[in-house]
Amino acid sequence: MIRDDFCTACGAQSWRPLFEVDHFPIEKCRVCGLGRTKVDRRFPSFIEQKFYGDHYRKFYLDSRTKFLLMARYRRIIRQDWPYFSSVRNILDLGCSYGYFLEVAKEFGWDAVGLEPNASIYQYLRKRFSKSQVYNFTLERGRFRDEFDLVTYWDVLEHIGDPKRELALVHRALRKDGYLLVHCPNKGSLGALISGPKWGWWSPPDHLYHFTPESLRRLIERSGFRVVFLKTSNTEEEIVRGIFNLLSPKKIPRIAGWLNLLHDLTQRVLRPLLAPLLILEGRLGKAGLITILAQRRESSE
Ligand SMILES: [Zn+2]
Repeated sequence: MIRDDFCTACGAQSWRPLFEVDHFPIEKCRVCGLGRTKVDRRFPSFIEQKFYGDHYRKFYLDSRTKFLLMARYRRIIRQDWPYFSSVRNILDLGCSYGYFLEVAKEFGWDAVGLEPNASIYQYLRKRFSKSQVYNFTLERGRFRDEFDLVTYWDVLEHIGDPKRELALVHRALRKDGYLLVHCPNKGSLGALISGPKWGWWSPPDHLYHFTPESLRRLIERSGFRVVFLKTSNTEEEIVRGIFNLLSPKKIPRIAGWLNLLHDLTQRVLRPLLAPLLILEGRLGKAGLITILAQRRESSE
């Protein structure tokens, strides 16, 4: 029996091949709709090169990227502030360059971030103390009943065994603590229209492709009660999606393009895209999922 054949979200064992993206086969669970990238996980260095190379560093260290991401994090937390008003400390998993740790400080929270990549950790250590950032994964952390809120900002889709990971989150949270996951929506209009050209397949670093339904199932099976699930989008994401669809090759996700798209959308497309953004959100078909869940007393 190959354990990998079971769907991590719903436990079913029925996969349908979709297509290949950059030579990586993508398949989906026939029961819950979860997508996964078929990749030989014995070669993590391949993922390491793509995900943490120059390209990634330039994109994330660009001041505009930082500004947009921090604005997004603040907006999401403020929109549902009553759930977060009693939070005192948080754990941000895959904290990358620490932008959410900075936002957490603005809210007055004690923030701890885990970042397994050594070179990013070196950067983090120049900006955060030794007790705030750690160069390891949740498995090594051995946290227990410690945090009010655990966050994954565009990280859960990178993790090889999300069910096991969420069991560790359950252990790390205090009683009634919250889990927040933000990730691309494979069930979005953009993904449906774009097919294999959807920008967020991003193999091989994106191993799973969540829909609202499959993410909800995964989280509920991991010992949590879903508080809310929403989808949202930004003008930049929509315009980038259109560029991806129309261009023969994917537009590199680099800072120059992002700046150009951002300026363009700010000036010209914002009024035209506003109704689409609202409609997508209402239908649960916008490009990004945000889910907030609360720890139940015992894990499955
Ligand atoms: Zn499934």
